[in-house]
Amino acid sequence: MDHLPRSGTLRWSGTLSFHEEARTWIVPFSGTKTLAPRHTKVDRTAEKLTDWVSRMRTHGASFRTLAGSGFRTWLPALRVALGLEPDAPVPLVNVRDPRLLRLELQIVAPQLARRRGAGVTRSPAYPMLPLLAGPPLTLGQLPALSRRTGEPIQLLRRLHALYVVGPVSTRPAWLHPASPRAAGCYPAAGRTGFLGFDRLPVPEEHRDDFRRWLKRSRFAQDWQLTPDGLRLRTCEFCGHHRLSPSRLREVSGAICSRCRRDRAGVPWPAVPYDAYRDRP
Ligand SMILES: [Zn+2]
Ligand SMILES: [Zn+2]
Repeated sequence: MDHLPRSGTLRWSGTLSFHEEARTWIVPFSGTKTLAPRHTKVDRTAEKLTDWVSRMRTHGASFRTLAGSGFRTWLPALRVALGLEPDAPVPLVNVRDPRLLRLELQIVAPQLARRRGAGVTRSPAYPMLPLLAGPPLTLGQLPALSRRTGEPIQLLRRLHALYVVGPVSTRPAWLHPASPRAAGCYPAAGRTGFLGFDRLPVPEEHRDDFRRWLKRSRFAQDWQLTPDGLRLRTCEFCGHHRLSPSRLREVSGAICSRCRRDRAGVPWPAVPYDAYRDRP
C-alpha cells in the first residue's frame, strides 16, 4: 500500500547559497510540486528569471524595476542565467534606456534557441538555475542584427566594443561620471572653436595638467591640442562647430547639435538623449 499522498501540492521556499573560495552568494528560491495527476514541477526561480529576462529583451524593462527591492540578491542568479559568471560586472543591469538595453542584450546575451520539446536549459555550472542566453554575438553577426532591427551598424559596433570586447569596467556604472569642467570647454570654445590657454577652466598652475588629462580622457577625440590652447574639432559629418559631450558610454566623442551625430556617425536624437548631456 502506498502511503504517500497521491495528489496535492507541495510548496517550498528558502535561500540557496553558492560558496566559491571566500565568497558566498545567496539566491532566494521557492517552488511548488503538484503530485497529481502528473508529476509536474514548477520551478519558481527559473520561472521568475525567464519572465524578467524576456521582459528585458522585449520591452527593455530595467532589471532593477522588475526585481524590485530585492534586486541585488537576484544579481548573481541573473548573471548565471545570462551565461556569465555569478560575480561578473554587468553594466546591463544599470542601463535605463529601453532601446539600448534591448540591443545590448541581443549582442551580449542573445536568446538561447529552445530545443523543441526540451524543458528549461540549465546552467552547466549552477544546474539549479536556468541558462537563458547563448554566447555573445561576433562582429560578423552584427550586420544581420542591424538588418533585423533597423538600427545603425555603427551603434551596434560601438555596443559590441563596449560590452563584449571590453575591457568591461569593474565599476559597472552605466553612465560616465559627470565632468562639468571638461563639459564647460565646449560652449566656451564658441564660434571660433578655439579655447586659449588663458580661458581653460582651471587655475593657471594646473593648465598643463588639465591639457594632459584631457588628452587621455573620453573627451580626447573632440580636441586638438595646440601650443596656445585647445581647438574643438568640428562635426565631420556636417561641419558644424557646436557639439556637446554626453555621459552615455554608448556615445563616441561629442554629439553635434545640428545633425545629432556623434564622432562614430551614430545619430542621438535630442529626445530622449539630451537628458544625458554632460553639463557645464
Ligand atoms: Zn552654428
Ligand atoms: Zn553634424
